[in-house]
Amino acid sequence: MSNMSSNANFVIPLPAIPSVAVDGTAARFPVRRIFCVGRNYAAHAREMGRDPDREPPFFFLKPSDSVVDNGVSVPYPPQTRNFHYEIELVVAIGVGGAAIPIERALEHVYGYTVGNDLTRRDLQLAAREQGRPWDWGKGFDLSAVVAPLHTVKRIGHPTKGRLWLAVNGVVKQDSDISKLIWGVPEIISFISESMMLAPGDLIMTGTPEGVGPVVRGDLITGGIDGLGELGTPIL
Ligand code: MN
Repeated sequence: MSNMSSNANFVIPLPAIPSVAVDGTAARFPVRRIFCVGRNYAAHAREMGRDPDREPPFFFLKPSDSVVDNGVSVPYPPQTRNFHYEIELVVAIGVGGAAIPIERALEHVYGYTVGNDLTRRDLQLAAREQGRPWDWGKGFDLSAVVAPLHTVKRIGHPTKGRLWLAVNGVVKQDSDISKLIWGVPEIISFISESMMLAPGDLIMTGTPEGVGPVVRGDLITGGIDGLGELGTPIL
């Protein structure tokens, strides 16, 4: 794009490129944007007070520099008294495109992993009720925990597998990625109809039921069968 010159002089130091780990290598996957899907499991839609009918999916974004590696501690964020976990399947886009048909969507995937869409639930719900943007509830610092990616080359395209999260060893979320209302090909196609997907984009595909709060000192663990596990201490 014309405003992304690679040889310009910049008036302040360039920011570091946010990135996530890739399983089995020291190389990193650079993160461009983080798309997130709202209410993509029926039982979670119900617990959030919404009808899980298969209406078109909706999306929000987190800043790319909100990514947090597996094992890194996350300080309890400011301005919330209801800090929630959301375990999710994460898709990493390796090949960009616009208006991608569903049947070709998987050709754009670099890999998959497990992530945690950390949420200031009180701020999100207040915004929701007032018809305001979700950014303050969803897009704050260190709000996107993303475990090491597993490449399509090595694992293919998972369509089922247990998705779980525990707080201090007590299981809170326990579902299966086969229960996604909108699957990965449909989500990729939907986003690409509205914005051009690009290499480096991540998609957090939504969380199942069982969301809830953590407090300082808690340890969040979680995983997806075949995609590894994550652990996040809350400071
Ligand atoms: Mn989420």
